[in-house]
Amino acid sequence: MEFESLRARMVERLVDEGYILTENVRRAFEAVPRERFVPSEYRARSYVDMPLPIGEGQTISAPSMVAIMLEVSDLSEGLNTLEIGAGSGYNACLIAQIVGDDHLVTIERIHTVYMQAKENLKRCSKVVDVVHGDGTEGWPAKAPYDRIIITAAAPDLPKPLKEQLKVGGKLIAPVGKTAGFQTLTVAIKQPDGSFKEKRFGACAFVPLIGTYGF
Ligand code: SAM
Repeated sequence: MEFESLRARMVERLVDEGYILTENVRRAFEAVPRERFVPSEYRARSYVDMPLPIGEGQTISAPSMVAIMLEVSDLSEGLNTLEIGAGSGYNACLIAQIVGDDHLVTIERIHTVYMQAKENLKRCSKVVDVVHGDGTEGWPAKAPYDRIIITAAAPDLPKPLKEQLKVGGKLIAPVGKTAGFQTLTVAIKQPDGSFKEKRFGACAFVPLIGTYGF
């Protein structure tokens, strides 16, 4: 079966199973070919709902997990967004479908993975800024952000990221100190600088490694 029909079936499944809830997220999944972000040896499995290796011990997350994170991120056009953990670039391309051209910076720590994300994102229909570095320090050049999305497991919410968020902005992250078990957390910045946290269930991500990570 061709990738296009497999993609349409995956989106239908994610809607039926309750992972995709909004029009914005559905349209983003329909628009982005996941097979372009998957290494050639795994391409045939691009539309199976599972994480896949992308090299250096890292992964492109399962589509259902990506959908959950996009839904809780509550994205809309024009939101200034930072993603930590570019990985394959797939999630970045999905986010960019919603926030639009030049509204997303994505940071990757591992150089070869960063090069891969940069290459893959050349074919994304929206313009994304891809940066190599330690995302736990944030990216002050484009701060403050409406949304900061961490796609790796954080022991705590990194201080620089909390500082680089606007009041009313949302910091989305898998949070937990135990390997293989985190809680998907959305922290909303309050006018006094404190955070109100909402938790959305268990998840398992590779670790966020850096000055304010593991
Ligand atoms: N969003 C990615 C995608 O769509 O393919 C999947 C991300 S993968 C689960 C987590 C990524 O976070 C890995 O590529 C890893 O190298 C990266 N990472 C870990 N710590 C980081 C840090 N401090 N700064 C930036 N990237 C980091």
